[in-house]
Amino acid sequence: MSPAQGRSLAWLDGRVMELSEARIPVTDHGFLYGDGVFEGMRALRRRIFRLDDHMRRFAASARAIALELPGGIEAVRAALFETLRASGRDDAYIRVIASRGDGALGVDPTSCQVPRLLCIVDVLRLYPPEKLEAGIDLITSSYRRPPADVLDPRVKSLNYLNNALAKLEARQRGADEALLLGLDGRVAEASVANVFALREGALLTPPAVDGALEGITRRSVLELARAAGISAREQSLGRIDFFAAEEAFLTGSGAGIVPIRSLDGRALGAGRPGPVYRQLHAAYLAAVDRLGTPF
Ligand code: PMP
Repeated sequence: MSPAQGRSLAWLDGRVMELSEARIPVTDHGFLYGDGVFEGMRALRRRIFRLDDHMRRFAASARAIALELPGGIEAVRAALFETLRASGRDDAYIRVIASRGDGALGVDPTSCQVPRLLCIVDVLRLYPPEKLEAGIDLITSSYRRPPADVLDPRVKSLNYLNNALAKLEARQRGADEALLLGLDGRVAEASVANVFALREGALLTPPAVDGALEGITRRSVLELARAAGISAREQSLGRIDFFAAEEAFLTGSGAGIVPIRSLDGRALGAGRPGPVYRQLHAAYLAAVDRLGTPF
């Protein structure tokens, strides 16, 4: 089956249905207050990339907000496989969401009796090949990433307003993505992706304390780089590190690894995807086959 074929489905309240037919009550605190957590995963060629890592992060996010996953992580896996197989897709974007569930209108989570689990399988929307070949354009967002001791970026919660506004700002300014800084001016990440800069041959990415999600693609890229003999580590970065970089790219489960062509209208590196990006992108695609869980 070609990647574009297959159905978009949702698993909700124990049943698989067309995505367009899935409904949740307006009293769900995930909707009312963003009280919930989620994961986004990619499947390529009938393999889910680093499923166990995603399940671990999902369970940790849920625990961090005192939300008990109904049926535990095994129920999440079962829902995910059922939906994915029913979709008929070989490549897919998979989203699992756990919300606090239905409750009274007050913010108090104790009014919610049962958390709600939802799984969505949809088409994997990648940047078009021309964009991957040319690189994407970023702007520095005027929105800041909340500090880690306000909204811990290691918890993948449903609070994405800042990310959404940063993305909107990027689109309104004709760019593809936004670079978010912390209150101290250090680079945190992009709106829904981690960022990397190659400086003097070393691959650098901001640490979680600077507001970066501990991305699963990010960790894979650090591992793949080291395996290829490229020095790679977490380090606090400023915008200057991107302007001075030999190469820059972003990473995420949805987007994969995407080269950055410009920041705030200034060309980065050689202004086209560099050799380290190309090497790591190829290694990443091969890793999906090696590290993916078949379904
Ligand atoms: N940062 C944010 C804010 C994200 O939402 C995502 C996408 N989940 C990422 C980074 C990339 O993380 P991952 O590689 O685990 O998808």
